[in-house]
Amino acid sequence: MEEKQLFGTNGVRGVVGESMTPGLVLRIGQALGSMRPGTIAIGRDTRTSGPILVDALKAGLMATGCDVVDCGVLPTPALQYIVRDTFAAGAMITASHNPPEYNGVKIVERDGTEMGDAEVIALEGRLVREEYTLAGWRGLGAERAAPDLVERYLDGILEHFPTGVGAGMTVAVDPGSGPAALTTPNLLSRMGCEVHAINAQPDGTFPGRMPEPTADGLKALAEIVLETGAAFGVAHDGDADRAVFVDDRGRYLEENREFALIARHVCRRRQGVIVTPVSTSQLIEDVAAATGCTVRYTRVGSIYVARTMLGLIAAGIPVAFGGEGNGGLIYPDHQFCRDGGMTAAMMIGMLAEAGRPLSALADELPPYHFISKRIHTQRPDEVIAAVEAAFPDFSADRTDGVRIAKGKTWALVRRSGTEPIVRVMVEAEDRLSAETMRDAILERVAPFIG
Ligand code: MG
Repeated sequence: MEEKQLFGTNGVRGVVGESMTPGLVLRIGQALGSMRPGTIAIGRDTRTSGPILVDALKAGLMATGCDVVDCGVLPTPALQYIVRDTFAAGAMITASHNPPEYNGVKIVERDGTEMGDAEVIALEGRLVREEYTLAGWRGLGAERAAPDLVERYLDGILEHFPTGVGAGMTVAVDPGSGPAALTTPNLLSRMGCEVHAINAQPDGTFPGRMPEPTADGLKALAEIVLETGAAFGVAHDGDADRAVFVDDRGRYLEENREFALIARHVCRRRQGVIVTPVSTSQLIEDVAAATGCTVRYTRVGSIYVARTMLGLIAAGIPVAFGGEGNGGLIYPDHQFCRDGGMTAAMMIGMLAEAGRPLSALADELPPYHFISKRIHTQRPDEVIAAVEAAFPDFSADRTDGVRIAKGKTWALVRRSGTEPIVRVMVEAEDRLSAETMRDAILERVAPFIG
């Protein structure tokens, strides 16, 4: 298949004023408008470059005759929810978890999923060939502001939970000055919780913490959890398609453990296939076994998870849940994209039912040991082939790079789409087994390093 040039796994991104410019976004708008004529819903995160890039996007879309509905500042999953079955397409100005100097565009299809590889390649082709269907002066599009459409998204989440399910629960929220500042505290209050929020003012300079929610960046959130006796703290990345947590003891909940706990809650009442990338912890296998579900692995990238879920459903195969081990979880009875607001809400639903603290639930999970390493190499394909050949008694899966597995030990070796590196991930039952496996792999790939 042809490779995407401009767009990565989650849209096109770059440093503003360098590779990300109003001129580029204008051309993306013209290409999208040419491919998806009709009314397009757009939104943005809180970055300082958002307003000018939104204006460029609108100009491009309206130049092709598309009408534009501007939803303002909102989470990416909120725009996806709004677009689904209602608009010809959507476009979100966001750089997700990247630092403040970045921005980008995510394209949303009519069904609410991110645009797939084949369509993105077609869109890029239009940019390269400057192939746009520009309207004449009578046919130009118009724009309308619709800041209230985000309410549909909040209502869409709330309808999955009993009224007042969070009553008596105190929670802490850190939207990281991103668009969820306008949604998640409100959502959790409406579920009945007492909400304490930090970094809850939209601010594209991200004064409190960077848009990537790391354990280090969430120390202030953890302190609020401990001070207020909260059941948990939840934080989002820069466009709130992901949610990560600290538990009631102020400890960062590793995202594979978050995925396992919420998957178990969801799969107890909804059996079928759990869809996840090959990079996910085997905790999900344990959850599947305990709940009568099975696991289907995909390439790394939420778009592949979402499209595999849709493909299974189209084939009549029931799908229980989907997601990645990075806090990006997909609820098939809600919508087919990662949704950080829905995940925050689901944590309340889960704890209300469990009647036990999050820390206790997390500590009961098996303590698998996980190691991740980057290796510089100009010969990634040879590295992957060498690892596959070196462990003949392991099963090998070539869904994305190679994933080898034997018993409770597995390793994934895959190339980066953007840098001359391969990523090596190893997981085993304990630290010693994981380190032994890592060292065996590193010995095999040593001739290819550099
Ligand atoms: Mg994101």
